[in-house]
Amino acid sequence: LGTDLSGKRVLVTGASSGLGAHFSELCATHGAHVAIAARRIDRLEEMRPRLMALGAASVCPIELDVKDGASIHACRAKAVETFGGLDVLVNNAGIAREGAALDQTAEDFDAVMGVNLRGVWLMAISCGRHWRDTADGGSIINISSVLGVRVSKDLASYAISKAGVIQMTKALALELARHNVRVNALAPGYFETEINEGFFETQAGQEMISRVPMRRIGDLDDLNGPFLLLASEASRYMTGAVFPVDGGHLVSSL
Ligand code: NDP
Repeated sequence: LGTDLSGKRVLVTGASSGLGAHFSELCATHGAHVAIAARRIDRLEEMRPRLMALGAASVCPIELDVKDGASIHACRAKAVETFGGLDVLVNNAGIAREGAALDQTAEDFDAVMGVNLRGVWLMAISCGRHWRDTADGGSIINISSVLGVRVSKDLASYAISKAGVIQMTKALALELARHNVRVNALAPGYFETEINEGFFETQAGQEMISRVPMRRIGDLDDLNGPFLLLASEASRYMTGAVFPVDGGHLVSSL
């Protein structure tokens, strides 16, 4: 079984930048129908011609705010309606609020959990119910992080949310397997995107890189192999798996 995605119907959340935009391009290159969802609909509309040129079977930009359950439901429904079904959910939208734990407000904590945990959960549940009710089966790729396993200074709420995504992946894998739904996760290391803009040029950023055994941050293409494996039939007997893609990140920061 190869990693071809021809004709697969994929929904990517947080598709307007960074990893989500990259996953969307990858799906397009491999011939998928791609629904790209995020709040910045203008950016998604701008992406459409590029994705079509890369080889997407079709592209559907959808405005989505994962803090809002109704928006999640409407997004999933629109993807299903447009493509006549759905095969893969890439549950990628995420934010970080940096700062010392003792200085973080309740609002900071709620904001991170609202997107990274509650938003990811509600989207997984919405797709899971669709696949249960249609008996179509499907596949979820949750985007956790190396910080779901290790800890790093000034990112406590983020790390907590990403650890939650790992347990969510395993818990849903267990419950949804009977509905022919697979649930796996990627746990990326450090990739330069809008979420950490400028950080890797700082001293703290350089120190972080020095603790990566492979001594560099990731290039977005480093995600391609693990992503395509999880998105395709090549992983049809895999569920509840968490793939680190982090250059062998073995130690945390002080
Ligand atoms: P970006 O900031 O570039 O992308 C985040 C994406 O999430 C954007 O497309 C943004 O779109 C979307 N998003 C944020 N809030 C919401 C919301 N309320 N509703 C819908 N979409 C939302 O960062 P990354 O690409 O780096 O992050 C993508 C995922 O990868 C995140 O889950 C992140 O935690 C994870 N990750 C990133 C790593 C890295 O080193 N970069 C490492 C490990 C994991 P918009 O603003 O248009 O809504």
